Amino acid sequence: MDLQSEYDVIVVGAGVAGLAAATGSARAGAKTLVLDRSPEIALKVKGEVIKRDNTIVAEILRKPLPDCVIKGTSKRRRIFSPSCKKHMILAPRVASLVIDYRLLTHEIAKACVESGATLLLNTAITELMQNDSGEVCGIEGLSSNRSFNLRCKAVVGADGHSSFLREQAGLPAPNICAAYKVIVESADIPDSDMLEFFLLNNPAGALWIFPRADKSAECGMTIWEQTREAQGVDIADVWEKHRSEHPILNQRLRNASYTLTSVDKLVFGGLPDDFARPGLVLVGDAGGHVGAKGASGILTGMSMGYAAGQFLGAYASDNKAVVGDAAMRRCVEAMKNTSAWSLLQEEQKAGAMTRDFLFKILRTNEEIDNAWDAISEMAKSQ
Ligand SMILES: Cc1cc2nc3c(=O)[nH]c(=O)nc-3n(C[C@H](O)[C@H](O)[C@H](O)COP(=O)(O)OP(=O)(O)OC[C@H]3O[C@@H](n4cnc5c(N)ncnc54)[C@H](O)[C@@H]3O)c2cc1C
Repeated sequence: MDLQSEYDVIVVGAGVAGLAAATGSARAGAKTLVLDRSPEIALKVKGEVIKRDNTIVAEILRKPLPDCVIKGTSKRRRIFSPSCKKHMILAPRVASLVIDYRLLTHEIAKACVESGATLLLNTAITELMQNDSGEVCGIEGLSSNRSFNLRCKAVVGADGHSSFLREQAGLPAPNICAAYKVIVESADIPDSDMLEFFLLNNPAGALWIFPRADKSAECGMTIWEQTREAQGVDIADVWEKHRSEHPILNQRLRNASYTLTSVDKLVFGGLPDDFARPGLVLVGDAGGHVGAKGASGILTGMSMGYAAGQFLGAYASDNKAVVGDAAMRRCVEAMKNTSAWSLLQEEQKAGAMTRDFLFKILRTNEEIDNAWDAISEMAKSQ
């Protein structure tokens, strides 16, 4: 691999959003590099649920989602109030698929490489290069302890929730919440087609159990309250406390063994409108492209990444110069013309309203329980 060459488009971060962006760019005819500092793809296992009726997965994979990626199908959702005394059952119009995140990411990586993009692991970006006009025109980085710099016409920042590129470019950050993920074997789950959510109060957040077809389950927890105190907790400890004391989590997991645990962060609301600069666009978690109702970041990140990649790839293969201000605005317009952007905007409004209503207006568990029937009616009509 010659690290001194030039590329049309360089994508930083080989998560679902970055791989989708590189696929779109390479398919549009651009010489595309996607790099990641990790030694392997999907080192951190993240989301687990996607909507079944999406079109973006088949568009990127150029085939339907393989059966091996699908671990379960859920048609219903049960949501418990923080006291667990009340619950509601929702039957969304569209069923959800519980997926194996690693296998999905590997499928997208295959599509990306088959599209002609170069994928490079163990390679971290350390600096953005700018030309005299202040446009981003390349990157500096470290690959297997060797420093390098590469010029390009556009950089796609897909480097996740704590994006270094976002910070370097001075772009606004979304809400980032502490998150914990656990995969368990032998859970006692009553309904294998039901995603279960348990709202938490003080600090506000949620736990979830998503059953797979084989008695294993994808579980997790996030704390979305944005105070320093709430975000500073040791989330693995909080999870363990809930596992032993939470009335229903304890029942469901009493015989379960953990097969994977991960301390992480989740983007959850605060959708920034500004995620581009001349020569640079952010996609996926880096750009805050995650739904504010329930972390729909896999599909929205892929959609926004693919749209950006397609635009920049086509532009860069037709033009010699860096993607300047006017062209980058058109790229953002193309991203905002997707159904994923409409969903993000809708969720941003509805998610913020629901959380404010539950935890800022009602506040106590008793008040939430007293208003639960009205809350359920509202949720069913959405
Ligand atoms: C616990 C949890 C549960 C979730 N549940 C769901 C769910 O059910 N459904 C759903 O749709 N979404 C869910 N999400 C959100 C979803 O998983 C994410 O939104 C999505 O995976 C983000 O993808 P990404 O490609 O933007 O970022 P990432 O997958 O984080 O990829 C970023 C990549 O950038 C690389 N990188 C970072 N810095 C550098 C650097 N300086 N140089 C080079 N590489 C770098 C990292 O190594 C990483 O591979 C969940 C997330 C979490 C944490």
